[in-house]
Amino acid sequence: KRMSEDFSSCLRDIPDFPSPGIIFKDISPLLANPQKFTAVIEAMAKLVKDKEIDYLLGIDSRGFIFAAALAQKLNLGMVMARKPGKLPGDVVSQSYELEYGTATLEIQTDAFKAGDRVLIIDDVLATGGTARAAGDLVEKMGAQTAGFAFFVELEFLNGKQVLDSSSVTSLVKF
Ligand code: 5GP
Repeated sequence: KRMSEDFSSCLRDIPDFPSPGIIFKDISPLLANPQKFTAVIEAMAKLVKDKEIDYLLGIDSRGFIFAAALAQKLNLGMVMARKPGKLPGDVVSQSYELEYGTATLEIQTDAFKAGDRVLIIDDVLATGGTARAAGDLVEKMGAQTAGFAFFVELEFLNGKQVLDSSSVTSLVKF
């Protein structure tokens, strides 16, 4: 509990972003503080240390920040799940529903070998649609989802329910 109170001071609430009525958790204060950012990556590494993992998958774009730092800490390779049209070469795509419209994530076709265990990383778990799409994409490619790790989980949005909730970990919960 004390741990999560400590890290919550690295977040800032921005009202009405990206649209009216939404209170956005801004992670910029965390990234600006090297001691806190290091401590967060160490704590996230501890959360997943008992999992069998072959690759970390970072979700475009703040997920890249956490996935890259964790990849260094855990000595694992990292793969990018990107918004459409950003990755060169052959890609596998997965579309998913948003509140208004749809979104798509892509991964390079040769990113994983069959059966690779992939831990999916993002900054914030909200409704879970994005992370779910990343998990679906991993499975579409013949790899396996080893779990999901987030810096922040907005528990009131029940994102865990659309993921395999037993495999979801996060550092700070609201
Ligand atoms: P979801 O698909 O779970 O509803 O939304 C998660 C995605 O939106 C993540 O990629 C996350 O970066 C972004 N997101 C949603 N709400 C917030 C927020 O309050 N703060 C930040 N930093 N990202 C958010």
